[in-house]
Amino acid sequence: MAAAVKHAEYPPDLSPEEQQYLLTNIKDWSIAHGLAVRPAPSFVSQAQDPSGVLATTAPITLFPSLFPRSCFEQGLAIQNAYNELYSAIARDEEWLKGIVEELIHVDDFVERLWNVHLEVKKEGYVQDLSLGLFRSDYMVHSDQSSHSLGIKQVEFNTIASSFGGLSSRVSSMHRHLLYIDAYPSSSSSIIKADALRQSKATSSLALGLAAAHSAYGSSRTGLPLCVLFVVQDPERNVFDQRHLQYALLEESGVHAFRLPFHQTLSDTKADLDRNLLYTPPSSPSTTYEVTTIYFRAGYSPDDHPREEDWTARVHLERSRAIKCPSILTQLAGCKKVQQVLATPHSPHLRRFLPDETLASRVLETFAPIYPLDESKAGQEARNLATNPDSACKYVLKPQREGGGNNIYRKAIPNFLKGLPQTHWPAYILMEMIEPPPLRNAILRNGEVQRGGVISELGVYGVCLWRKGSGESDKGEVLQNWEAGYLLRTKGDQSEEGGVAAGFGAVDSCCLV
Ligand code: ADP
Ligand code: MG
Ligand code: MG
Repeated sequence: MAAAVKHAEYPPDLSPEEQQYLLTNIKDWSIAHGLAVRPAPSFVSQAQDPSGVLATTAPITLFPSLFPRSCFEQGLAIQNAYNELYSAIARDEEWLKGIVEELIHVDDFVERLWNVHLEVKKEGYVQDLSLGLFRSDYMVHSDQSSHSLGIKQVEFNTIASSFGGLSSRVSSMHRHLLYIDAYPSSSSSIIKADALRQSKATSSLALGLAAAHSAYGSSRTGLPLCVLFVVQDPERNVFDQRHLQYALLEESGVHAFRLPFHQTLSDTKADLDRNLLYTPPSSPSTTYEVTTIYFRAGYSPDDHPREEDWTARVHLERSRAIKCPSILTQLAGCKKVQQVLATPHSPHLRRFLPDETLASRVLETFAPIYPLDESKAGQEARNLATNPDSACKYVLKPQREGGGNNIYRKAIPNFLKGLPQTHWPAYILMEMIEPPPLRNAILRNGEVQRGGVISELGVYGVCLWRKGSGESDKGEVLQNWEAGYLLRTKGDQSEEGGVAAGFGAVDSCCLV
């Protein structure tokens, strides 16, 4: 019998026969259970699949990655506090206005989002409920002075937090592989049932949508009610969304439809009462009243190439449907908000999280982040970012979502050189989190890559709230729960981590 694998040797080496058995099982299980994506055009061209019928296994890790138990528990335990924090920010229009004012002259996208809010505000909002399906992302960080491990937040997502659907599947798959002895017995002291963590994200996020749907109340038009997923088209990560849609119907009996964002103006109408009405193209005689709009699009300028896309944002925002997220909630997810919260000794965190214990737990997860403006801290950060020796410890981030937008380490000084200084405040400068070295094997487009990896833990949160009517009424949180997790793992040569952006793979935790 082979000697037991130690953590430093994980994952175990596989003989060709063992790897063959593992891969065969992964390939079949993943397709049988929808742990899948539509293939990239570089993998399967349009000419090879003109009808778009093919799907392939999502990028996944062969083994669950090792993850410190205390860090995993820390991430899950503070999610409720993070939900409360971001719900409070989204309800504080005055405070958000201060953030937006710093960005509006240097970031057109933020400006346009803010203008959508102003336009709807002028007319008056008719829906005071908001839903957040959030995901707070972390990396493990080892504190050099105390020699202890903790998590540091990479970012907080308030719109289109993806991969909840696939995260549940990949944790089920790793467990299945354990049960069918696809992992060598030499690793049985590490990969064991009580170390693997099932992600409940699919079900839990779908329950969040169901909670909003039910809080909307009964139909005002007499028409049947539905939830609308507003999506990109084409969308390779469609099965991730389908899993939520199916869970919503199967577990809560709620009908949901997917509608490409660019079709919202033609396929939905607001009546005089601003009820949002949707007629599926397949059944022109049936119209639904939309209770909840779940945005899986609308987070980037690329989703708004035409002027009418902004008309569509106003049309959806002014409707009576509950938005997931509202424009203000989307703006709360700006990296600038994260930077302002993380400013040492700032009063902002306390403003939103008066509970001291909760606030200090959240504070522990902040990594150093600096503005690039003309403040004193901003000037210091500008010096760090323009000097090649110091810049290599940082990442530069614009106010964007979806991966592929950041500038890393050595590339920062040159990038800034090419940018007028007046535009520098559109970015924040963040210290790179350097997790302890790990190894795994990633399966992507049929090829296995083994080597050093970096994992990022995402913790989902569901939060439903009522916004207040003014100074004396600050609104209230109606639902708040931690909604499962996602582990994403990438090769340690890549700075970016996005799975959809082509860098990372979906993974699950093997707690150590
Ligand atoms: P996005 O909203 O586009 O996903 P992120 O802030 O998550 O932007 O950055 C994208 C990726 O860059 C992350 O998934 C992570 O891999 C890497 N990254 C971002 N910030 C840091 C950081 N401070 N330390 C290490 N890696 C980071
Ligand atoms: Mg993001
Ligand atoms: Mg991210």
